[in-house]
Amino acid sequence: GEKLPLMEEFYTIQGEGFHTGTPAYFIRIGGCDVGCHWCDVKESWNADLHPPTNAQKIVENASQYNTVVITGGEPLTWNMTLLTQKLKERHIKTHIETSGCYPLTGKWDWICLSPKKNKLPLQDSYDNANELKVIVYNKHDFIFAEEQATKVNKNAILFLQPEWSKKEEMTPLIIDYVMQNPKWRISLQTHKYLNIP
Ligand code: SF4
Repeated sequence: GEKLPLMEEFYTIQGEGFHTGTPAYFIRIGGCDVGCHWCDVKESWNADLHPPTNAQKIVENASQYNTVVITGGEPLTWNMTLLTQKLKERHIKTHIETSGCYPLTGKWDWICLSPKKNKLPLQDSYDNANELKVIVYNKHDFIFAEEQATKVNKNAILFLQPEWSKKEEMTPLIIDYVMQNPKWRISLQTHKYLNIP
């Protein structure tokens, strides 16, 4: 965790999930072997393409912001203990977007668990998630979402989010589903509608 493959970092508006519409500094860490065929950041998969960067340097870059979102790739490929410890020392709120398939390291103010069928989350992630965000690519994903909802802790907020390339087809189904199953909420990738990163 002393050096992490930093792919990009940018200040923007959180586009999806519970914190939609709020500003945050995004830190994208390279490396992911989950292999979602619809992944919109395939450039992140190979960690070797992204420069090993000192955790201390990453924290300094983020130091003027109130909230960071650590995303990837799959950030839990790496040990997040040191990075989050240093962020917390500066009183920066730490959020993570993870598939949960690797051990949960780090100190987090908010954990967004987005489980993937081909590499399921570990129990620790289900137990500690603040929100469960299931991407809906096809109709079977509603069944998958319900299975995942039985595994996550009871306080987690449940979101269904259309996969971007299928949004015309899936969004109407999600709207109907949420009206019939009101424990779920809709999450949209609003940053893509707004044309921001
Ligand atoms: Fe892409 Fe995330 Fe799936 Fe990894 S877990 S392949 S980064 S969508």
